[in-house]
Amino acid sequence: MSTTLGTLLQELEPHWSIGLFETLDQPGQESSDPWNNAGTGHTAYCELNYTPRGADGTVGTAKAAGIAEQFHVSRQLWSHWVEQGTLGSPRTFINALPHMSFVWGDENADYLKDRYEALKAEPLFSHIQHTEDQAEIESWAPLLTGGRDAEQRVAASKFDNGTDVDFGALTRQMADHLGSQGVELRYGHEVQDLSRGSDGRWEMKVKNRSAGEKRTVSARFVFVGAGGGALHLLQSSGIEEIKGIGGFPVSGQFLRATDSEVIEQHHAKVYGLATVKNAPPMSVPHLDTRFVEGRRSLMFGPYAGFSTNFLKQGSYFDLPFSVRPHNLLPMMQVGMDNTGLVSYLMKEVTKSHKQKVEQLRDFYPDAEGEGWELVHAGQRVQMMKKDAKGRGVLQFGTELVTGGDGSIAGLLGASPGASTAPSIMFKLLERCFPAQLEGWKPKLQEMVPSYGHLLNEEPKLFEEISAATSETLQLDS
Ligand SMILES: Cc1cc2nc3c(=O)[nH]c(=O)nc-3n(C[C@H](O)[C@H](O)[C@H](O)COP(=O)(O)OP(=O)(O)OC[C@H]3O[C@@H](n4cnc5c(N)ncnc54)[C@H](O)[C@@H]3O)c2cc1C
Repeated sequence: MSTTLGTLLQELEPHWSIGLFETLDQPGQESSDPWNNAGTGHTAYCELNYTPRGADGTVGTAKAAGIAEQFHVSRQLWSHWVEQGTLGSPRTFINALPHMSFVWGDENADYLKDRYEALKAEPLFSHIQHTEDQAEIESWAPLLTGGRDAEQRVAASKFDNGTDVDFGALTRQMADHLGSQGVELRYGHEVQDLSRGSDGRWEMKVKNRSAGEKRTVSARFVFVGAGGGALHLLQSSGIEEIKGIGGFPVSGQFLRATDSEVIEQHHAKVYGLATVKNAPPMSVPHLDTRFVEGRRSLMFGPYAGFSTNFLKQGSYFDLPFSVRPHNLLPMMQVGMDNTGLVSYLMKEVTKSHKQKVEQLRDFYPDAEGEGWELVHAGQRVQMMKKDAKGRGVLQFGTELVTGGDGSIAGLLGASPGASTAPSIMFKLLERCFPAQLEGWKPKLQEMVPSYGHLLNEEPKLFEEISAATSETLQLDS
């Protein structure tokens, strides 16, 4: 998120003085590291939580369309940066990969059929394919059907133009570019506190972790793109907008295949349905091909874990130290209202390797336990905030918090996350830099040709842009 914003601002205002402070020794090693997330370019092609069945029985597509619009903004911005040389070869950070949804049982198969009909009517999703034929599913993803009861009713939908993204590589390439443009990059530097100085500028207390020395850095504008560290820093800033907000960490684990013969047989991201209602999006099981540092891998998960850390490389005190008088009640209310989620997490945390492999067999019936190793993924801090009636509720999305008259912004929450970083940062520009926005518009339209348009409402523009970004990002071959 921070490197996306930095790269945008550096291109819009090359003479502005920009600094980036990162606790760790390299960029992109927390949530954006490739094995700390699933690398799905979230386009709402396969994720069934974006197309819920409503109370009237129809399958809603509005959320899916919103997510897909945002991912097409990402594709355009990354294409622009590939053309500019800001990013390297597309294959180093993005790869074409079919996105599939897969379910079993009558109720779920009926739902997937209805979802297919609803999505097919939307321009952004008109290329969806659907089948209940096990032989056809086998041709799409053979691991799903081998060893499966031929009489079991199954259903699958597929999009051929999905993606797998290495957000760690993307982050590092943006950071390297910023360094080459004179941006001050300070790795191994932890921002410990934020406060407003008497001149209205923000003052950050920054600690050099290896030398131990501390210094104060001041800035007219601060973006707290600290992932799980953002809540603490926004709280220290004292802005009104952070009051009442709390965080609840959920960690993730994946099983990663070790047998190259198995890895080679799969070429898709296959998402299923979450087993519990109101569970975080990260509890949706999926069997994914991944491309990390030029190597093909296969993973299944996520399994939820629990730790009080807000960052994988954070502290056990993160959760207790985030409790304030203003967020204690909403946090307690969330606990009382989400007992199903709490018991789901308890069950997940105590799952043995054998039980994890049994869950994998719902997707890949012939899976053998020895061929899979456990990978500890990143932390997601689910946000808790007050609803319109003042009661604490759990939020699964991403929220851009802005305060101090637009001089400070931060990002909380984690889903759909890195895939939509460009759109979120465009929103930040609109909120925090209204005076500059009009002058920036021509450049923003050059970066993202659909800026100001909704592609789902302009099918011709969508086809043009989709074809152009597929070519630049080498997603066709
Ligand atoms: C299990 C899991 C699966 C996911 N799957 C997907 C997926 O498939 N697709 C997708 O799009 N998204 C996914 N996400 C979400 C995605 O990983 C995040 O939304 C995204 O990486 C967040 O980027 P960020 O820059 O906000 O945070 P981060 O990448 O965590 O970066 C924040 C940085 O701030 C640094 N920092 C923190 N505190 C301080 C401080 N005080 N001073 C200085 N530096 C600090 C950290 O060290 C870190 O490097 C997933 C997340 C998880 C956990």
